[in-house]
Amino acid sequence: MEDYRRDLDALAQRGMLRFLRTVDGAQGPRVLLDGREVLLLCSNNYLGLAGHPRLCRAAADAALKYGSGSGASRLVSGSLALHEQLEQRIAAFKGTAAALVFNSGYAANTGILQGLSGPEDLIFSDALNHASIIDGCRLSRARTLVYPHGDVAALEDLMKKEQPRRRGRWFIVTDGVFSMDGDLAPLNELVTLKERYDALLMVDDAHGTGVLGDGGRGSGEEQGCLEHIDLHMGTLGKALGGFGAFVAAAQPIIDVLINRSRPFIFSTSLPPAVLGPALTAFELVDSEEGRRRRVALRRNREVFAAPLRAAGLDLCGSTTQIVPILTGAPQPTMDAAAALLERGIFVQGIRPPTVPEGRCRLRATVMADHDPQDLETAAATLVEILARRAQV
Ligand code: PMP
Repeated sequence: MEDYRRDLDALAQRGMLRFLRTVDGAQGPRVLLDGREVLLLCSNNYLGLAGHPRLCRAAADAALKYGSGSGASRLVSGSLALHEQLEQRIAAFKGTAAALVFNSGYAANTGILQGLSGPEDLIFSDALNHASIIDGCRLSRARTLVYPHGDVAALEDLMKKEQPRRRGRWFIVTDGVFSMDGDLAPLNELVTLKERYDALLMVDDAHGTGVLGDGGRGSGEEQGCLEHIDLHMGTLGKALGGFGAFVAAAQPIIDVLINRSRPFIFSTSLPPAVLGPALTAFELVDSEEGRRRRVALRRNREVFAAPLRAAGLDLCGSTTQIVPILTGAPQPTMDAAAALLERGIFVQGIRPPTVPEGRCRLRATVMADHDPQDLETAAATLVEILARRAQV
């Protein structure tokens, strides 16, 4: 135990110790945090569906009808009709022949990369890809070349260099919306490269699905190249207000994953109370209500980001509902987060290893059902606190 205590002390001394807080109530614009009401500016419940009465009812109905647990892995005790209905809905949503649900985005990214690639293969991965992609690359045992963030020219240089000694399959893997920067991958340019070099393009659209594009189909729809993406990974726990994840792709890809993907094969499948609301969430995303929520989210994002930009803060190139404010070192970042919390605003400070050294930030996330007035106040408070700290 002494060893571990020393580790924790060392983390605390560097301003790097993490701890859990208790939130009461659904992930709405305002929550009770450790018993006190605060403005929630760090939830990925972008469309505000996590507390939607229709999703809550769907969870209860599905549990009452099909039970509380799925019993086993789907290869062992079979798929529920709800798994199949959800996969058909997801495939239609992303415009692919098939889809497969996973137990989380983490399980999906590790399972897709491990299931589809091996030691003969080569993965090109953006430098700011999510940790679950990094771990998936490791699990796959494929050679992985990391290209500088969003740098298509550097990626092509790498591909050109590798071409003469090519052996196995090639993959380009990228977040659609980068989770800590809120910027978009240059998908059209990546499509050009994947066609030129005969690679498969995998897009992790955890933060774009449900949010971007007129129909909420994600960063591919937003950039007009949805049908050219080979592997659409997305999560159900963010804009869709539930839990779990999926990949939508061609049928042979899905069939290989069913046969090889270890998180899919060796884990109990999603239960009815998760599958039911996911189906309802896709219905809502596709409806007029979904469209209204996306419009409100885009408006709210501007209400919050415009004053930050005007104050000269560095928003890390964000163009989406993820609005990071660069603060640099760990301690000032956590001090600013604590000062905001004192003023009733709950924003997370983000430190390494989630972001590179020296690139700590406050990561604010905006939701469709935030009150614009609250967002204006939050932005003004943020500017005031960061300006005061800059003077110290
Ligand atoms: N990919 C990205 C880009 C993410 O931001 C996240 C979650 N933070 C995941 C994957 C993992 O998804 P989940 O939370 O469903 O495991």
